[in-house]
Amino acid sequence: MKNKFILVINCGSSSIKFSLIDPATGNERLNGLAQSLMTEQATITFKVDGNKEKQSLTSPFDHQIALRSIVDFLTQHSYKEAVFAVGHRVVHGGEEYSEPALIDNNVMATLHRLSQLAPLHNPANITGIEASEKAFPSLPQVAVFDTAFHQSMPKKAYLYALPYALYEQHGIRRYGFHGTSHYFVSRAASQLLNLPALKGSFISAHLGNGSSICAIENGLSVDTSMGLTPLSGIVMGTRSGDIDPGIIFHLINSLGYTQKQVNDLLNKESGLLGLSQLSNDCRLLEEAMLAGNEQAKLALDIFCYRIAKQIAAYAASLSTLDAIIFTGGIGENSDYVRAQVTQSLSLLNITIDNELNVATRFGKSGNIAANESRACLVIPTNEEWVIAKQTAQVINAI
Ligand code: AMP
Repeated sequence: MKNKFILVINCGSSSIKFSLIDPATGNERLNGLAQSLMTEQATITFKVDGNKEKQSLTSPFDHQIALRSIVDFLTQHSYKEAVFAVGHRVVHGGEEYSEPALIDNNVMATLHRLSQLAPLHNPANITGIEASEKAFPSLPQVAVFDTAFHQSMPKKAYLYALPYALYEQHGIRRYGFHGTSHYFVSRAASQLLNLPALKGSFISAHLGNGSSICAIENGLSVDTSMGLTPLSGIVMGTRSGDIDPGIIFHLINSLGYTQKQVNDLLNKESGLLGLSQLSNDCRLLEEAMLAGNEQAKLALDIFCYRIAKQIAAYAASLSTLDAIIFTGGIGENSDYVRAQVTQSLSLLNITIDNELNVATRFGKSGNIAANESRACLVIPTNEEWVIAKQTAQVINAI
């Protein structure tokens, strides 16, 4: 088992998701989650072969303590020697990174600078990297960026119609996120359709708590719905997606909201949660709708309509369209959302087979299109495998 696995780390401000992956096969040996970090309730859960083990973390309940208990767990289970690198999900790579990077002092300095563009995410990623460097001092650490895949977008897709100096001097532009997911499913789609590697034109819909749509041509992102931050685009679990920016001035100037209240409103209280006044959880909303809850139905109607509109808009970004792709927790599992979205896409010659739609859930992949329709694929995403593979490639291990 020597030199076999990559430890993949996805670090948030109060959580660390981790998994141990064989980059050649995508085989996952264990995974886990440290949560409620920085509080006395901090815990860490390890999952191996379907068995869960939960531990309380000790003072100071921080990322370093969590990383240390991961090291201990790996040692106890004889995995530690088999880990040959750590791959970190990093949210914002700005214009500096269109590829993953081996972390050194220069990369760290750039990540600190880029925290300006992603104040909610990059500082947590940096904390995770620093804790991991202490926990695994002899291992190479690699940063894999959510934004990197979208660096191929043309200027007409990534520039906002703002004074150009804001882009030149402050980097204000569309960056896009969920890059590793759109990368993974577009490659899997070429395979599913028996196209040559990196060939094909796709519109992929990553629908989860955070959601984004991406237009992909021959392996490259050409446009995507998230922007400078992950707040823009389609409706999400608790994020508003695109709104008229004038609403923000109205909230502050006429309704007395503070900047923090507006920020919380748009990021944490809007989307499916805000519209339904019930939950951000799609499955729960579907159940409520079936039980007659009108507000849950309205939230789902708006969610699906906005997805369909964005997919239709990206027909303008591509020279041809081989397939649309559904992925993410909702895209992979909700036959209801897929049916609603595709119902609005008949002008693009997309109709689905109802039986295939219902049968292709819970980890299954396949083409759910009706006979005469353009392909409509369901592909479970695997961001961890992408991070593991790219980490191994950076250190020339595969
Ligand atoms: P993610 O952020 O990708 O983990 O996706 C989370 C979302 O997927 C939540 O809104 C869940 O309710 C949704 N989801 C998971 N399973 C189902 C399901 N069977 N039907 C509908 N939505 C689901």
